[in-house]
Amino acid sequence: MIRIPAIAVLLTGLASATAGSDQLSQDKVRSARNFGDIRREVETLRGKEFVREVPVYKISEKALRAISDHELDKEFPGSKLRSYEELLAWLDMVPPQTDLKAAYADFLADQVAGLYDSDAQEMCIPSFSRGTTNVAKKTAEKKLEEISSEIDNIVLAHEFTHALEDQYWPIDDAKDHEFKVSTDRSTAHDFVTEGSATREMIEVIPAQWGRGAPGTYFLLWNLIHSGLGESVLNYVISEAWKNSDALVEGVPETLARTEVMPYSFGYSFCTAVMRQWGLDGLDYIYDHPPVSSAQVMHPKKCWEWRDLPVQINLPETLPGDWKQVSLDSVGEAGMAILFGCQFKNLNHGLDLARGWDGDHVALFEGAGGHHLLLWASSWDSTNAAGRYLIAWLKERQAAHQAAITRNRQKFQLLMCQRFNCPTSEYNERVFRKCLHWHARWLALVLRRLQPDFSQWISSSSVIWASQPACGKQAQTC
Ligand SMILES: [Zn+2]
Repeated sequence: MIRIPAIAVLLTGLASATAGSDQLSQDKVRSARNFGDIRREVETLRGKEFVREVPVYKISEKALRAISDHELDKEFPGSKLRSYEELLAWLDMVPPQTDLKAAYADFLADQVAGLYDSDAQEMCIPSFSRGTTNVAKKTAEKKLEEISSEIDNIVLAHEFTHALEDQYWPIDDAKDHEFKVSTDRSTAHDFVTEGSATREMIEVIPAQWGRGAPGTYFLLWNLIHSGLGESVLNYVISEAWKNSDALVEGVPETLARTEVMPYSFGYSFCTAVMRQWGLDGLDYIYDHPPVSSAQVMHPKKCWEWRDLPVQINLPETLPGDWKQVSLDSVGEAGMAILFGCQFKNLNHGLDLARGWDGDHVALFEGAGGHHLLLWASSWDSTNAAGRYLIAWLKERQAAHQAAITRNRQKFQLLMCQRFNCPTSEYNERVFRKCLHWHARWLALVLRRLQPDFSQWISSSSVIWASQPACGKQAQTC
């Protein structure tokens, strides 16, 4: 599941910027301010020095939207974006016909307090009035205007942390874009960078608010690092992705929550690492980055021993002239958001996604423009796999009026235990059947150590195939 790639942003829900007050006559203006103080604070707190200058620009809404569009074009060139939009719609991650460019640009225009562009290696602070309709946020912004320079510096501390870490561990990592391996690695990377920058942003507060008053500085520093202070901060930030503040009118809930989630889980993860092992621990994590969102959401999977997800390779074609047109990994984070939003219970979504151990989802196109969604996943336990399958069935029923019956017209379940024949034959046979039934969704649950689609040794593979009852998703019927 993607976020806006290669740009590290800070959302107003986490630190309301006051940049909305001045309108720019140009789209991008270099700031003349001296940022020496805040840069030095970030260097001290992060234990590293800047290798290069980081220019700071104020940008207009138009420029911000252009950055967002550029990032999506880079990740999904040409027709790939359209195919990816369709994949997300088929997964019910977004409504059909969602324009991802418009959705992401609307989200950023409403929510972003600052961003670090790792492509251009520069920092951008949006300077335009927000069209927010969120009353609570507007009131908060008004209050914050009174302490504008401190808040500006806190936003800058977050972005300078991204810039500093980018100079040692590039944010734009080629491994994050290997769709055939897993896009969930990129999600995990986002979790860590946002978590680390959010932690630094909080650690900069004593220096900002205690400027010239050592007593205030120490009071705040001790408060933040006390057991109670840590607990309150952790609770507030770890719940941020569930708040209504994360939502933007016209932007699918799943996308908005996906954008905020890295701050929540990343903050808890990075703070725990820093409390236990200090900056050396954080450096270690950057040297050995987590490869799945699950490893950040359950730090034991990342630290005490690495619980590596199963690599599931989906074929580029399926029997019967089906061609793969888009591929993604949902990951534990994406699954929690998908089920949480669909069932309108985000904690239930987290429970359903727990036990994830690898997945790949692909959209295939067949003759006559028909589509087929294939979602293969591996789970830590049979119970976890069962919870996922039942959840997916319920979700299909609720969203598409897909009926569960035992006849071949609407829904089919195949289960194979101890299947000993050559697996490729088995797969083909199963797929031919499924495709013959005009199935539109297939969910495969693989057990551990069966990473290659073409070489299943199926001790307990479950295949669900279903088709919509010509309901909401009209283009599929
Ligand atoms: Zn950030």
